[in-house]
Amino acid sequence: MHKKMLLALLSVTMLIAGCGSDDTSEGGTGATAGGGSSTPSTFAAGTTMDALQKKGKIIIGTKFDQPLFGLKGLSGQPEGFDVEIAKLVATAIFGSNLSGKTEFVETPSAVREQSIIDGKVDLVAATYTINDTRKQKVAFAGPYYIAGQSILVKKDNTAITDLSSLSGKKVCTVLGSTPLKTLQERAPTADLSILFDTYSKCVEALKDGRVEAVSTDNVILLGFLKDSPGQFKLVGETFTQEPYGIGVKKDDTAFRNFVNDVLDKAYRDGTWAKIFEKEVGKPTEIPTPTPPPVNRY
Ligand code: GLU
Repeated sequence: MHKKMLLALLSVTMLIAGCGSDDTSEGGTGATAGGGSSTPSTFAAGTTMDALQKKGKIIIGTKFDQPLFGLKGLSGQPEGFDVEIAKLVATAIFGSNLSGKTEFVETPSAVREQSIIDGKVDLVAATYTINDTRKQKVAFAGPYYIAGQSILVKKDNTAITDLSSLSGKKVCTVLGSTPLKTLQERAPTADLSILFDTYSKCVEALKDGRVEAVSTDNVILLGFLKDSPGQFKLVGETFTQEPYGIGVKKDDTAFRNFVNDVLDKAYRDGTWAKIFEKEVGKPTEIPTPTPPPVNRY
């Protein structure tokens, strides 16, 4: 069946992982890529990296209710792919002992740009699609993953099969998200009267029948699907590309370059693949893809 494809993907992954094996990852290459180092790098005075290191703490905006990406569970600490990606940046600044050096702040979709502008957070890693509208307000490192919009329905739903079958149907998504914009443009007759600030509220509404579908990025929906076995299914093909970036202040090019360096290094030394596999790949059975090249615009 798809065995050949899986094997091919697996060998690509192994190649990527192998590439980094001769890399002298401990200690990194100095000020721009100290990820994984136990001794913190030193940074030029006046840079965000230097300021954060001196302050001894980085404030990270992420989601608290999204399985696989940013979920605050019983541990009280958010967990997931976005959290681990943000920790790579923190490690590159502080060294490998992050104890007390990271603070996570819940940052729902609609407040991400403003949280960065106001300095409430130092960066946002929150299933955050890079696009030109957002780039007018903030800057993005990455992408570090490319998702695509999809549709979640109850398992026994046969009426909704794809984007074109949403007409007149109550579809839930989140305010300030790219999926909302896409639905407004490409499913203009869908009933979008029930919207929330977070996706977990949409999933609750789907469970109790207030809406018939939830639409957002496939990997977000897969996280909820996995958490409620036997209840839901994804329908249709993905119909957008959602490149996930790390949001930083618009004019902070040095910090953006630094985060891109951290991602690049994680791609080369296999760290990114390990994180993806653990946080997303294993639970969803998505084969680990080749990481998307960072875009240093
Ligand atoms: N990636 C999309 C966005 O940034 C949807 C997910 C989200 O709202 O976090 O808007």
